[in-house]
Amino acid sequence: MSEENSIVNGLHKYELPPLPYKVDGLEPFISKDIVDIHYNAHHKGYVNTANKLIDRMNSIIKEEEKSYDLHGVIRSLTFNINGDKLHTMYWNNMTEQGKGGGKPGGKLADMIDRQYGSFDRFKALFTEAANSNPGTGWAVLNYDAENGNLQIMTVENHFMNHLAEMPVVLIVDEFEHAYYLQYKNKRPDYITAWWNLVNWDDAEKRLGKYLE
Ligand code: MN
Repeated sequence: MSEENSIVNGLHKYELPPLPYKVDGLEPFISKDIVDIHYNAHHKGYVNTANKLIDRMNSIIKEEEKSYDLHGVIRSLTFNINGDKLHTMYWNNMTEQGKGGGKPGGKLADMIDRQYGSFDRFKALFTEAANSNPGTGWAVLNYDAENGNLQIMTVENHFMNHLAEMPVVLIVDEFEHAYYLQYKNKRPDYITAWWNLVNWDDAEKRLGKYLE
C-alpha cells in the first residue's frame, strides 16, 4: 500500500475512482475536453486536497499544530470530501452515449409515476429545479428512506442544503466547469443534453440498496 493510501491515526485517505468510460465517452453531449478537465483537474483536485486536509487534521489531532482555524479546516475538508463523493456519483450516474437516456424502469419508474404523476412531469420539474439553482451546485433526486419519498433537491456548492441520510438516486453537476467550455452560459442546453446520458440502471441500483 502506498503512503498516499495509508491509514494514519485511523483516518483513511481518498483515491480518485476510475472513470466508468473513456474521456470522450460522453460525446457529443459532453465534450472530451470538459470530461478531461473535470475529472483529471477538478475531481482529482478535490481528492488531493481532501488528503492534504486529512494530514492537516492528523497534525491537529496529534497536537503538532497548535494554531489553527478548526472550522475553516473542517469546512474545507467537507467541501473536498463531498466534492469527491458527488463527482463519483455524477460520473457513474451517466453512461456512454447511446446507452443512456430514455426512461427508467422497474421500481424507480413506479415510484416516479406514483409521486409525480408521470415521468414527463418529473423530468420537467427536475429540469426546472436544475435550471433555477443559483450559481454553483447540483440538482439531485434523493430517496428519503423515512417516508419513501423521492425528493427533488438542489445542493448549493458541495454541501449546502445537503440532507444527511437521504441517499442520492440521480445527480447532475451544475458548476460552470461541467458545461462552460461547450455550452457557455446556456446551462439549460447542458441539462437538456445531460438527460441523454442518464444511466437509469445505476439510478435504480442506487435506490435498490435502500428498498426492501
Ligand atoms: Mn464538478
